[in-house]
Amino acid sequence: MTDHKPLVWIPYPIHDLAIARLGRKAEVVFGYGEAAVPFKDVAARVEGILIRTGKITAEQIASAPRLKIIARHGVGVDSVDVDAATAAGVVVTNTPNSNLVSVAEHAIALLLALRRKLVIADRANQLGRGAESRPQLIGHELQGSTLGLVGFGRIATALARVAIDGFGINVIAYDPVLGDDDIRQKGATPMSLKDLLAISDAVSLHVPLLPQTRHLIGENELRAMKKGAVIINTARGGIIDEEALLRSLEKSHLGGAALDVTETEPLPAGHPFYGRPDVIITPHIGGQTEESLLRVAMDAAECVCQALSGEIPTASVNAPEHSRLAA
Ligand code: NAD
Repeated sequence: MTDHKPLVWIPYPIHDLAIARLGRKAEVVFGYGEAAVPFKDVAARVEGILIRTGKITAEQIASAPRLKIIARHGVGVDSVDVDAATAAGVVVTNTPNSNLVSVAEHAIALLLALRRKLVIADRANQLGRGAESRPQLIGHELQGSTLGLVGFGRIATALARVAIDGFGINVIAYDPVLGDDDIRQKGATPMSLKDLLAISDAVSLHVPLLPQTRHLIGENELRAMKKGAVIINTARGGIIDEEALLRSLEKSHLGGAALDVTETEPLPAGHPFYGRPDVIITPHIGGQTEESLLRVAMDAAECVCQALSGEIPTASVNAPEHSRLAA
């Protein structure tokens, strides 16, 4: 143990290489495992926190007078009280570009699984009903189909590239924040939400969860979708009204849904989505690949190292007026 090194607290496991990177700069203390050290025991000395899951509250920030940085392992910073951090002079960072390829590829995997009925085919086969199920397992090609992207930011753009170049899909996008020219430049055709829903064979959601995007896809929007079309959500639970989605599936209006994110995670046992042949649920694994977990952890560790060196990290999400970085 080296007393002169700044202390960094990590409450949840991250990639070993990122821990090694931090270890060259800091004394690393873990909030998990057999020798877990709770936050209150390091609060007086901690200068950096690298948080993957769990919350960092205003009370914790107030109890840590030397804290300089809270680095989020991932994109969303809703688990950190950013306002309290900003007021205390603590910089908060995230890793916005580290897992976008993984999420985009997961959306493609879900799209293929829905359009080719992969999960239901596997279930039937494992139950010894493969041969008799074949007539119900006729899928659709992706080539020439229309994919509607709701939100056309980082992940949707990466997805569009694979969809267009890899599969020959027609990609249309709705993003009221972006100009039509921006959408065209990134390879998609801009469209109103209403028109997008009406003509897409598959709709994939890529907006942040905000008050204005909560239940963006509700009863009316689902009804406006083409009969037999499928919907994919790798963004955030809450963007689709799940009760309305269930009703649409029960009426066989939608052809299927694949959800990597749900309003409650994980979905409780016995939830009506479970067991349905037209629903695929993955437990929020869109961004989870070996490659992205390494990239995310290294990017977050780099932010911590930059802050401990007195530099403003490149991926800061706040700009405290009285930053402790220089202290
Ligand atoms: P981004 O910020 O790059 O893009 C979001 C886009 O949504 C922006 O272009 C913005 O203009 C647009 N937008 C905002 N409000 C809108 C509205 N009302 N209607 C339509 N478009 C709107 O975000 P990103 O990095 O591409 O992430 C997209 C989503 O994926 C987020 O919800 C994020 O939390 C989620 N995500 C999920 C996982 C996972 O593991 N499943 C991992 C990373 C990110």
